[in-house]
Amino acid sequence: MSLRFSAISSLTSDAEIKAGEATQKVTAIFRENVFSLDKARAFLSDEAYKSLVASVKSGKKIDRSLANQIASGMRAWAEAKGVTHYTHWFQPLTGTTAEKHDSFFTLKSDGTPIEEFDGATLIQQEPDASSFPNGGIRATFEARGYTAWDPSSPAFIYEIAGGRTLCIPTIFVSYTGESLDNKAPLLKALEALGKAAVDVANLFDKNVTKVTPTLGWEQEYFVIDEALANARPDLVQAGRTVFGAAPAKGQQLEDHYFGSIPDRVYAFMRDFETEAYKLGIPLRTRHNEVAPAQYEVAPIFEEVNIAVDHNILLMDVMTRVAKRHKLKVLLHEKPFAGINGSGKHNNWSLATDTGINLLAPGKTPKTNLLFLTFFINIIKAVHDNADMLRASIASASNDHRLGANEAPPAIISVFVGEYLTKVLNDIETRVDEKFDEQDEAILKLDLHKSIPELLLDNTDRNRTSPFAFTGNKFEFRAVGSSANCANAMITLNAILADTLIKFKAEVDEIISKGTKKEIAVMQTLQKYIVDSKAVLFEGDGYSEAWEKEAEKRGLPNVKTTPLALDALATNKAKTLFEGLGIYTHRELEARHEIELENYLKKVQIEGRIMGDLALNHILPVAIAYQNKVAGNIQSLKSLGLAETSYKAQSELLARLSDHIQAIYTKVHEMTEARKIANAITDVRTRAIAYESQVKAKFFDEIRYHVDKLEHLVDNESWTLPKYREMLLLR
Ligand code: ADP
Ligand code: MG
Repeated sequence: MSLRFSAISSLTSDAEIKAGEATQKVTAIFRENVFSLDKARAFLSDEAYKSLVASVKSGKKIDRSLANQIASGMRAWAEAKGVTHYTHWFQPLTGTTAEKHDSFFTLKSDGTPIEEFDGATLIQQEPDASSFPNGGIRATFEARGYTAWDPSSPAFIYEIAGGRTLCIPTIFVSYTGESLDNKAPLLKALEALGKAAVDVANLFDKNVTKVTPTLGWEQEYFVIDEALANARPDLVQAGRTVFGAAPAKGQQLEDHYFGSIPDRVYAFMRDFETEAYKLGIPLRTRHNEVAPAQYEVAPIFEEVNIAVDHNILLMDVMTRVAKRHKLKVLLHEKPFAGINGSGKHNNWSLATDTGINLLAPGKTPKTNLLFLTFFINIIKAVHDNADMLRASIASASNDHRLGANEAPPAIISVFVGEYLTKVLNDIETRVDEKFDEQDEAILKLDLHKSIPELLLDNTDRNRTSPFAFTGNKFEFRAVGSSANCANAMITLNAILADTLIKFKAEVDEIISKGTKKEIAVMQTLQKYIVDSKAVLFEGDGYSEAWEKEAEKRGLPNVKTTPLALDALATNKAKTLFEGLGIYTHRELEARHEIELENYLKKVQIEGRIMGDLALNHILPVAIAYQNKVAGNIQSLKSLGLAETSYKAQSELLARLSDHIQAIYTKVHEMTEARKIANAITDVRTRAIAYESQVKAKFFDEIRYHVDKLEHLVDNESWTLPKYREMLLLR
């Protein structure tokens, strides 16, 4: 029996649903496994606790002797919970997380066994950097890399396979200090934006001393039966199906969205939510998504750095917990062709230490101006740096999604809603010569009341925009479901920091000439609206008309990753990132190279999988069936029947033969194209070749013939689970 049929039969015989744990209040388990400040309080001296708090709250350095105390407090807490090992937990540029577990256990010089964990080990570790992507940084410098403790993201205990490990969130840098991970540049970008935002907020409110960017992600994913997934070598190796004919019932009935969650999936959700709560991940929402077998999970928003850590941690938790339920989570942006892909909307805003959300419309003219300042600066930042934002979400897997079914296009535009469009128009036209008292009317608008009301009304919500204002936050929707949000967040926070710094300078310049502050602000905002209104779009982002319109407006529409990544190599990008102290030229070049490598390797792997499946799974079955049909024709002929009596068989045979020939030839040609691409030394040219000469030329074409065969060949002998089975059986 083929894996396909044994999977289907095990699915129907194993139908028993593992019950989740008894229902308990979330508050009873929330943060159980996190070394949060309240736990630190119980395990640390006053002095050590104070120093930890200062480090968490304002990034103050912790001195060595106090670090020793914190480390032993952490160990005492962890050991009381059965932990034996610890690891520095970091985010190398592979897109996942990395860990290297060490035991607390050690031997003293005289052989006495003890358990130990000191400040030095808490603060710094030295994993070999040479096997992580480094974009040539290693070649020029040193193979050594360091992980360094990030006290702002609390340590946690990860329970895996019955074992418990103390995980310490860290950054990962080379021996010479270049960042080799996602967290180090993210922390720098957040700091840069924090500073720039305080300076601008202080124009209006001197009490603001800290601004913290916030992130609430919405994670979309597919869940299918594990045995069925295991019978698909493409899902196992590439996370997506490279072949598969569309099922008769796809998502056309739209009966899955917000529908009732199937029991088996529900049990899985409850189980991973419990794990997440223990880890302090504040999950809030779960529901079915549009495509069959597609779901979403979303937390309450948090500080960006923590939200990013929580998202990658959750992706891992989900993957592991799914196994217990014999399910497989697919985080790929487009696991199945022809139905919706998965994104990870990044809801993003800025909070002050005075308790204000800077993107919440104000109640008074003063707070209105504060809101409009940040709101318009963001539009300007997106307009001026759309290319970099596009690069920040570029990946081989997201290329399948952007511009496809119900996914944002590759054109970056901003949706603000009808009401704010009007406000922006008013400012643009009415602050013409010199903004004067009379124009304060604009600021007296009750934005506070009108905007949420209008935006909450669904008619004013645009789901097709890649970057939408949703009442009190922006939602960056083009981020892919498998991505580390850090990438998008580094760029978004950096470009806003840069824009705000320039804004402040322009305003100060006008003020220095004797203009009133409010007027200086309004004049600058007006100029920004004029400069950046091309990026504003309220219509259907999925339509072809928009592509044409965007082209007229001169907005970039880069459809493939290798070209989108060019934005990392521009002088603009280098100046911006270096100016803010986020990336040096060298680091940015390294990143560019790593991303190109990642891209082409993924395409290369998919090409190989296609070849393998076509030659070893599809053709043998198709040829065997072709034989059967040919044999049938032969025997009918030998009985002396007229040609008309085996006309259908002859036609079928011809069609089978055509597809078989086409697949065989195309797979061979694709292999040759890969060889040619592999010989190209320049990584960008090689990545482009993989895109245009391998993927674009062959993937769809080979798939077309294979999917045709799926419809023609005997169902009983087809070895790969079909779409209808993966998507609809549970
Ligand atoms: P939807 O966009 O699906 O309608 P919501 O608007 O309720 O859903 O919220 C989606 C996400 O936005 C949640 O993860 C939530 O935590 C997040 N969010 C809400 N307010 C903010 C904020 N000020 N900053 C960042 N994220 C936020
Ligand atoms: Mg949303």
